[in-house]
Amino acid sequence: MMNFENQRVIVTGGTRGIGRGITQEFLKAGATVIATYAGNDKAAEDFRTELGDLGERLDTYKFDVTDTKAVQDFYKTIEDKYPSIEVLVNNSGIRKDSMMAMMSDEDWKRVMDVNLGGTFYMSRGIIRHFMGNKYGRIVNMSSIGGSLGLAGQANYAASKAGQVAITKTLSKEVGKKGITVNAVCPGFIDTELIDDLPEEQVKEYKKTVPLKRFGKPSEVAHAVMFLASKEASYITGTTLEVAGGL
Ligand code: NAD
Repeated sequence: MMNFENQRVIVTGGTRGIGRGITQEFLKAGATVIATYAGNDKAAEDFRTELGDLGERLDTYKFDVTDTKAVQDFYKTIEDKYPSIEVLVNNSGIRKDSMMAMMSDEDWKRVMDVNLGGTFYMSRGIIRHFMGNKYGRIVNMSSIGGSLGLAGQANYAASKAGQVAITKTLSKEVGKKGITVNAVCPGFIDTELIDDLPEEQVKEYKKTVPLKRFGKPSEVAHAVMFLASKEASYITGTTLEVAGGL
């Protein structure tokens, strides 16, 4: 079990789905988790209650990762509050699928801005802090959709491929400051993000996965924690697939 005692970890979209799993596993490993979310206050509070004693090390903030002023305000608040931040997990993400010929400007722009823009704004906001500490870990939640492509996901796949490009670029810019930047690429993971898929399609997708099932948020969380750990000190600019063999 990796130890994150005395470490502060930011998880965007950290109260639901994969992010919730990541928050929970980091809390179990001793971290203080600063989890952000887009809108649902009640879900965030229910999550804290469910965590019991672990919830005492959970700090939550609501803002939109595409709102650059809100991102700035968030960093100001937490940098005043905590002695240091060690880890940023850029996990927030959305889907707005449709065949490219039918895709609206709005759906293209929104998915690019939340998934790719959010990763950019949040990473840019913490990088000086990490440089000052000569330590930091960034883990970006991409997707195998970014390299495989899936019909109906031009916006999503492009944003996820873009996150891998940001990962590689930033890793080269900040490596000399003791900061690593990596990406995790999940396959199909059981969360609300994909619960609109028709049952027949889910069955078909499961057949294509060599492990013959969808993954769980905790299974993604463990990969994120490895890349965020002190032990992963010579790994940067890389992507780790958590996709059941897809
Ligand atoms: P989810 O819909 O359950 O959770 C998404 C989270 O992102 C929520 O907490 C939400 O509050 C947050 N979010 C959405 N828009 C936001 C915004 N504008 N500002 C701030 N936060 C915002 O989805 P999930 O399945 O848990 O997905 C988490 C990440 O994993 C996403 O980046 C997604 O692309 C990626 N992913 C998921 C799967 C999957 O099969 N579930 C597969 C590959 C990659």
